[in-house]
Amino acid sequence: MSLTTFDTATSAVEKMRAIIARCDELEPRIGAFIHRNAEDALAQAAASDERRAAGKSLGPLDGVIVGVKDLISVKGHPLSCASRILENYVSPYDAHVAEKLKAAGAILWGRLNMDEFAMGSSCETSYFQKTHNPWDLERTPGGSSGGSAAAVAAGMCEIALGSDTGGSIRQPAAYCGIVGLKPTYGLVSRYGLAAFASSLDQIGPMGRTVADCAALLQAMAGHDERDSTSLKLTVPDYMSALAEPEKPVRIGLPKEYYTDGVDPEIRAAVDAAVEFYKSRGCEIKEVSLPHTDYAIPVYYIIAPAEASSNLSRYDGVRYTRRSPDAKTTYEVYCKSRGEGFGSEVKRRILLGSYALSSGYYDAYYLRAQKVRTLIRNDFLKAFEDVDVLLTPTTPHHPFRIGEKVDDPLSMYLEDIFTISVNLAGLPGLSMPCGFSSGGLPIGMQLIGKPLDETTLLKTAKTFEQAHNFKDAHPSL
Ligand code: GLN
Repeated sequence: MSLTTFDTATSAVEKMRAIIARCDELEPRIGAFIHRNAEDALAQAAASDERRAAGKSLGPLDGVIVGVKDLISVKGHPLSCASRILENYVSPYDAHVAEKLKAAGAILWGRLNMDEFAMGSSCETSYFQKTHNPWDLERTPGGSSGGSAAAVAAGMCEIALGSDTGGSIRQPAAYCGIVGLKPTYGLVSRYGLAAFASSLDQIGPMGRTVADCAALLQAMAGHDERDSTSLKLTVPDYMSALAEPEKPVRIGLPKEYYTDGVDPEIRAAVDAAVEFYKSRGCEIKEVSLPHTDYAIPVYYIIAPAEASSNLSRYDGVRYTRRSPDAKTTYEVYCKSRGEGFGSEVKRRILLGSYALSSGYYDAYYLRAQKVRTLIRNDFLKAFEDVDVLLTPTTPHHPFRIGEKVDDPLSMYLEDIFTISVNLAGLPGLSMPCGFSSGGLPIGMQLIGKPLDETTLLKTAKTFEQAHNFKDAHPSL
C-alpha cells in the first residue's frame, strides 16, 4: 500500500485533463497560476502513461502532477519571479530539482504565483495578480509561496514546489491547511532557483500529507556540485522511516513562542497537539531560545543585504525587460529597474545597499551575522535536551487582502515564528492542527535538528494519522 495520496492508478492524461478543467473553473476566483502549460503538461502525462503501460515506470512519482513556484527554472517554461522585470523571460535550462523530478517521471505543471522575488507574506506584491485563499476568498493564502499553497489546497495540482527564506513555505501552508517542509540548509540544491537571500533560501515540498512531502523531498534531496552550499551526504530513506512504527520523542516548547501575542484559537489548537503527544508517551519540556527577539531585525539586515547583491543582475542589459524610454546606458539601468521592480523589492534593495555600504557594514551586516550565530546556538543548546520543537506556525489567522500591504512592519512580524529556523539553517515543517471558529485552517510548526528530517516527518505523521485535518477541503 502506498503511503502517499498521489493517484497513480488513473491514467496521467485523464488526471491532467481533470486538473486542467478544475483550474479553468476555479482560477478566476483563486488566481494561483501565473502561467499554465496545458499542452506541454498533457504531453508529459502521455509520456508517463506510455512508460507505465510498457512496464517502465520511473518510480512512485511517475505521473504525479507537481505545481512549480515561479522562481524555479524549468527549461522552456516562463520564469518571472512574479516581477515585471522578468515579464518575458523563458528558462533556458532546468533547475536541479526540475531535473530530478523529470527523472522521476513527475509532470511539471504551471507557474505558481508568489510575492515578487519571494519578498512578502501574502502574494500581494506579485506584479501580475493577487492569489485568494481557497478557505476564504477575501483572505490571502500567505506568502511568498501562496500560489503553491492555494493550488494544492484547491486541488489544482497534486503537490507543489515552494521556496522558504524566512517562512515562505510554512506560513502559506499553515494559512491554506496543508503540509509544508523547509529542509535543512544545504539538503536540496538551489541550482536554477532565482536567488533572494542565498544564505537562507531553500526549496521544499508543499503537499496534502506528510508522506506526500516526504516522497517529493526524497526525489529532490542530495548533493549537487552546481550549488556550493549543497551538502555531501547519503540521503536517508524517509519513506521507509515513515512506514516504521512510531517512537515517542522528546518535544521542546520554546517559551518565547508561547506568548500573549498569539491568537487564542491558535494557542488552543497547539496546546491540544501538545496534549496529544503527551498521550502518546512523548516527554514535553519547556525550553528557551533567549535571542528570539532579535530574529526579525537580524533577518531584515541579512536578507535585504543579500537580495541587494543578488538582484543587481537584473539590469536591463541582459535577460530582463529593458525600458523602451532608455536612451543612455545609465537610463537603461535606472529606468529598467525603476519600472521593472515593485515597491517592496525596491525597499529591500535600498535597505540592503544601506546595510552593506562602507562605514555601515560592520555596524549592521557583520553585527547581524554575529547575532545570527547566537540564535543558532540557542537552538543547538535546546536540542541537547529534546528531539523536536513544537510551536505555532503563525501568531494570527490568514489576514484579509489589503489589510497589511501598506504596513510593511506588521507584514514582517507575521514571520516571527518561522524566521529563526532559516537563520539557524534547521528543518521546519508546518502542518494543519485545527480550524478557527470562522473555519480558517490553523498550522503548527515542528522544528528539527540539522538534517533530522526523518524525526520531523515521523513526528508529524503520528499526529496526522490520529486526526482528520488532511481530509478537510475548502468548499469551492
Ligand atoms: N516574508 C518573508 C520576507 O518577506 C520571508 C519570505 C520568504 O521566505 N521568501 O522576506
